[in-house]
Amino acid sequence: MTIVVAIDGPAGSGKSSVSKAAARELGYAYLDTGAAYRALAWRCLEEGIDTYGPADVVESLSSFEYSIGTDPDGYFVRVGSDDVTDDIREPRVSAAVSAVARVPEVRQYLVDLFRGIIAASARPGIVVEGRDITTVVAPDAEVRILLTATEEARMARRSAELSGVSAETTARELSSRDAQDRKVVDFMNAADGVTTIDSTNLDFEQTIGAVVSLVQKSTQT
Ligand code: C5P
Repeated sequence: MTIVVAIDGPAGSGKSSVSKAAARELGYAYLDTGAAYRALAWRCLEEGIDTYGPADVVESLSSFEYSIGTDPDGYFVRVGSDDVTDDIREPRVSAAVSAVARVPEVRQYLVDLFRGIIAASARPGIVVEGRDITTVVAPDAEVRILLTATEEARMARRSAELSGVSAETTARELSSRDAQDRKVVDFMNAADGVTTIDSTNLDFEQTIGAVVSLVQKSTQT
C-alpha cells in the first residue's frame, strides 16, 4: 500500500520545493496538484476560453489531455503534446488560475484525477501538495501537514524567486490569489489531526528535515 503524505499551505510557503525535496529523500513520488489547475487555466487562455465563464471552462474538461511527472527528479507538465512546465508559471496564468479553481465541477474532476494518480503510483509513498489535500483529496493520508509561514516571510521568498518583478507587485499578486483561494478552501487553519509546520524561522533544509522526520515517525511500525 502506498503511504500518502498530504501537504497543504498558502502560496509562497515553500510547499512545492519542500515537498519535492522530501519526496526525493524518502524515495517517494511527488504530486504537485496546483500544476493541474494551472495547466487548465493555461489551456483556457491559449484557446480563448473565458476563465470567468464556468460553463465554458467545464466544457473544456472533456478534451483536457493532461499529464504530469511524479518522479521528483523528472518533473514535467504536459497538455496534449505541449510541454507547459514553464508556461504555467507565467503571471498571466497565476492571475487566471483562481477563477478556474473555484468551479466545483473542475475541482471534482481534478480531485478524481489526483486520486487516480495516487492509486497508480509504484513507489512506496507519494508526497501530494496543494490546498485541499489534507481535507478533500486524501483526508485519510498517513501523514497530514499544513506548511505555513508568516505573510512577510512568504512574500520575501516569492519575490526572491521571481527576478525582475518588484516586491510590491509580488506581494499584491500573492495576497490577492490567496484571498480568492481562501473563499473556496481553508488552507490557513489545520483541520483535525493535521500537523502544522511553521517554516518562518526555518531554512530550506530544516523545513525538509521537519517533514521527513514527521513522516519517519508516523510510518514507523
Ligand atoms: O500551488 P500553486 O500556487 O501552483 O497553485 C495554483 C492555484 O491552483 C492556486 O492558486 C489555487 O487556485 C489552485 N489550487 C487549488 N487546490 C489545490 C492546488 C491548487 O485550488 N489543491
